[in-house]
Amino acid sequence: MTDPDLAMRWSTTARPDETAPTIQVHWLMANTVILRQGLEQTAEAPLLYLLFGEHSALLLDTGDHASRGDFPLRSTVDGLVERWLLEHPRAGYELVVAHTHAHGDHVAGDGQFIHRDATRIVGHGAAAVASFFGLHEWPRGTAEFDLGARVLQMIPTPGHHPSAVTVYDPATRILLTGDTVYPGRLYVDDFPAFESSLSALCDFAAAHPVTAVLGAHIEMTARPGRDFPRGSTRHPNEAPLTLSVADLRHVRDAAARVARRPGAHRFSNFIIWNGPCRREAALQRIRLQFSRLFGR
Ligand SMILES: [Zn+2]
Repeated sequence: MTDPDLAMRWSTTARPDETAPTIQVHWLMANTVILRQGLEQTAEAPLLYLLFGEHSALLLDTGDHASRGDFPLRSTVDGLVERWLLEHPRAGYELVVAHTHAHGDHVAGDGQFIHRDATRIVGHGAAAVASFFGLHEWPRGTAEFDLGARVLQMIPTPGHHPSAVTVYDPATRILLTGDTVYPGRLYVDDFPAFESSLSALCDFAAAHPVTAVLGAHIEMTARPGRDFPRGSTRHPNEAPLTLSVADLRHVRDAAARVARRPGAHRFSNFIIWNGPCRREAALQRIRLQFSRLFGR
């Protein structure tokens, strides 16, 4: 097995007068692509994943609404599928469009796939997700989802969002954690569910080989404990996307410590937002204004 190429270089410093790619593409391995929507289009700059199996590909998330320009996700994905099929010719190749969770910045491109041939789009609610993947004990248990010689494990991880799932891919030994765990602000909607999900993920990682934990955003700078202000469309000196199993355990332990303390809690490579965090949100607005005025 070759190792995934985790040395990603994202374009993060474009100013509005520069032309930057609206979707960046990184081949993690021969059968695995990471896509990232440009910061020029949305400050969320979400990361999307495309996994190729023998009979189906999984597109995990469809991005955010573009504030400027078009978001050509469908043509980009079609091009990547075509390229893969050129090297692996076969008929009736299917695309499954699923989501780490159903917040707007992860499902906005769904409509581009509605009339695509051989395509299934997973619904957004917890019941739809549980039924599609056969997660009959939701929010507990796991289910296998076979792309053809690539059997993914689907793990319910509500807490940030009620229908959140984490995907484990044995081909890359990577956990795709969406907005549950990533180098940024972990907004917790349901804290007990968040804690249970983190503990399930840590148990899973203890029982399976995991080389990396990849989420759906990057909001931390490379400076420990420091994030880019919310809404920032420039990310100079951005933290790496890749987290480790040790980071995952750190998030679990940190969450247990702050469970009864509403507010924003900073750690070296993530921040836990427990509750609405109005004071922190106000500070973020001031920091954003400051960064826009002074360009940092
Ligand atoms: Zn998100």
